[in-house]
Formats: sequence, C-alpha cells, structure tokens
Amino acid sequence: MWPAQAMSGSLVLFGPPGAGKGTQAGLIVDLTGKPQVSTGDMLRAAVKAESAMGMEAKEYMDAGLLVPDSVIIGLIEERLTEADASAGVLFDGFPRTIRQAESLEAIANVVAVISIEVPDSAIVERIVGRRMDPETGGIYHVNFNPAPPEIVSRLIQRPDDNEETVLARLAAYHEQTAPLAAWYGERDLLVSIDGDHSIDEVAAAVETVVRGLA
Ligand code: AMP
Repeated sequence: MWPAQAMSGSLVLFGPPGAGKGTQAGLIVDLTGKPQVSTGDMLRAAVKAESAMGMEAKEYMDAGLLVPDSVIIGLIEERLTEADASAGVLFDGFPRTIRQAESLEAIANVVAVISIEVPDSAIVERIVGRRMDPETGGIYHVNFNPAPPEIVSRLIQRPDDNEETVLARLAAYHEQTAPLAAWYGERDLLVSIDGDHSIDEVAAAVETVVRGLA
C-alpha cells in the first residue's frame, strides 16, 4: 500500500470557483484512496432529483450565492456517517464559510487544506469555457482541456457557468470563503499551490504536496 493510502484524516481542496479543484480531485482520490466529497456535486444531484432541498438550493446556485450553512452542514453530517468516510475524505468545495469550518472541526479530523490559487483575471475564461460530461462527471475546457471528439456532443455547460453568475460567485468567494485561508493558516493546515499553470503542472505540484503529507 502506498503510504498516503494509510493516511488517516481528511483533506480539503480549497480555492476560488474555476481553480481546478474538481479536476485535481481525481488525482488525490487515486493517491490517497479517500472518497471525494463535493458539496457542489451533491447539490446538483439534489437539484436533478427535484427534492425540496434541491429546489431551495437551486435558487442560490443559479444566482451565484452560497447555499445556507445549515443545509450544507446537514448534507455533510449525513455523508460522513457512510462507511467509506470512516478513514477520512477529500472535501471539494467545502467548507466555504468560517461557520462551515467550525462545524467541520467538531465532526472530522482535517489534516491539510490544499489551496489552489488562481487570480481573478483567469477565472472567467476558465469557467465560461468549462464543459461537463453528464455520464462520467468528467470536466473539460473548450481550449485548455478539450474532450475527446466522440463525447463532445453529450457535454453540457453548468447553468451557473456563465459570465454574470461567475462574477457573483467570485464576489461570494472573496467575501465569505477567502477568509478561511487565514483561518486554516492559523491552524497550520494550509498548503498553497500556484494554480495559474497547465493542468499537468498543477497536478505535479498537488502530487508533491500529497506525497509530503504521507
Ligand atoms: P461548486 O460546484 O463547488 O462550484 O458549487 C456550485 C454552487 O453550489 C455554488 O456556487 C454554491 O451555490 C453551492 N455550494 C457548493 N458548495 C457549497 C458550500 N460548501 N457552501 C455553500 N454553497 C455551496
């Protein structure tokens, strides 16, 4: 077993929308064996299932606003009771507020927060060109990471991946989420990576960090 597979505790992937968290998450899952817990994916599944929670969350998501903490914390509490979460998970897109981080502290042992840093100037282009494969959850970009031609026709664009909503999401990030970097820094848990590079270059940096944690 590779050492990181024996690492106990949870990891957090942190960064602005479009930083590449979802893209890099797969690598960390492969390296550590920890399941990815993406609140964005969980909320999109609830929207698709048309549950009452999903319908409430959709209003916030479409507006580029954060879904209320109580909803998110409830989702996470439930997810962490599942058997595959017992040795820790990889949180992706969570926590996004200090209150969420405080709640998480009470229910999980976070051993590192990997922050992927990307300047605002690069975010809009990354998000507007992003496409998702609804069959596999794969994430592509029309220029930076084109999908294989045989699947291009089935790709979708997230409803919140448009320029107007991205600006609201960035504003929410700076106001409510970015302060978490200092919060985790004070706890000596923050490791920063320069995400303003190619996917492969960022992956190499992520791999070095994860191997260093084992
Ligand atoms: P993401 O897929 O991580 O970009 O999340 C998409 C949208 O889901 C966000 O813009 C928020 O509206 C909502 N969301 C996802 N995770 C959270 C969270 N931890 N706290 C609040 N809202 C969230």
